[in-house]
Amino acid sequence: MSTPKRVYNFNAGPAVLPLEVLQQAQAEFLDYKGTGMSVMEMSHRSKEYDAIIQGAEADLRELLGIPSNYKVMFLQGGGTLQFAMLPMNLRATGSADYILAGSWSQAAYKEALRLGTARVAASTEKDGFNHLPKNLDLDPQAAYLYFCSNETIHGVEYFNEPEPLAGVPLVCDTSSDFISRPLDISKYALLYAGAQKNAGPAGVTVVIIREDLLERTPSNLPTMLDYKVMSAGGSMHNTPPCYSIYMVGLVFQWAKKIGGLSAIQKNNRAKADVIYKSIDESGGFYRGHVQPDSRSVMNIPFRLPTPELEDAFAAEAKKNDLIGLKGHRSVGGIRASIYNAMTIEGANALVDFMKDFQRKNG
Ligand SMILES: *Cc1c(COP(=O)(O)O)cnc(C)c1O
Repeated sequence: MSTPKRVYNFNAGPAVLPLEVLQQAQAEFLDYKGTGMSVMEMSHRSKEYDAIIQGAEADLRELLGIPSNYKVMFLQGGGTLQFAMLPMNLRATGSADYILAGSWSQAAYKEALRLGTARVAASTEKDGFNHLPKNLDLDPQAAYLYFCSNETIHGVEYFNEPEPLAGVPLVCDTSSDFISRPLDISKYALLYAGAQKNAGPAGVTVVIIREDLLERTPSNLPTMLDYKVMSAGGSMHNTPPCYSIYMVGLVFQWAKKIGGLSAIQKNNRAKADVIYKSIDESGGFYRGHVQPDSRSVMNIPFRLPTPELEDAFAAEAKKNDLIGLKGHRSVGGIRASIYNAMTIEGANALVDFMKDFQRKNG
């Protein structure tokens, strides 16, 4: 078989996956472990599939060190459905606090408002979301304190959790920095992550919830939006997104194999460092808009002197097999997403291209 063409994929999501994972999926595609079936064709109630979903959960628990009093769910509806499920399940008739550090936390806040009462505990919108909020205005009665650990569009990332008031559960959207570094899960009441940024294909969202929070769930929720039902059914109340769960399971195995989250964090840091360094050393040709202490290790947005140069940059990069570099349509500019599966070679190739582009256009 000829070697397939592989580009350096800087897409923000769906995004690059580890080549080994794709190759394993390919090898198992027609005949999963002697079953004579693809995972796609299997009953979700079969013992083979049960081993896949249980294995995925066990590997994730080991990777993240998830304590035994937390449940793991594999749900559908993307990160966006969690914007609604969360307040529906955990807020009841009360209010919840939201920290707004970029478009995604802002979207979650707006969704929470559609369904009830929510407060802004902090917002950096007036600064263009270019740093993490420093001071929080917290409601001691809040049903939870919400934050997004990595703002995929604006490129700001939390490395230390915000401090909720005593007794207020901390809730996090970790979609775009999930399994990118070790986390102390015990600080969180709930975390969720759409898989397609760092952990697999689209179609599955991982939700990790501390058991006692399930007691808050009102009894009149639609079944599919009820954490208690979904958790009690082991994510199998109905047919789960079987193939996506299989794929995230392969990614979790891969993450363990390459040394776990500390090794992954080191690698991610090294990739981010070379790219930020080339921005900082470009004499202002490339400009990152995020303040250094808030810079994301996963998504690196930056600007060039003009929008025309930005378009030329993305187009020229694509010709060099560096793809997915255009910034989000809401903010423009350039964005390099360098999730776990992006190699250091990819980061270095981008840096070489940036230097070359500046020489020709600077
Ligand atoms: C992509 C993203 C979402 C939305 O995810 P969908 O699966 O498209 O609904 C939510 N939060 C963050 C941080 C994201 O990066």
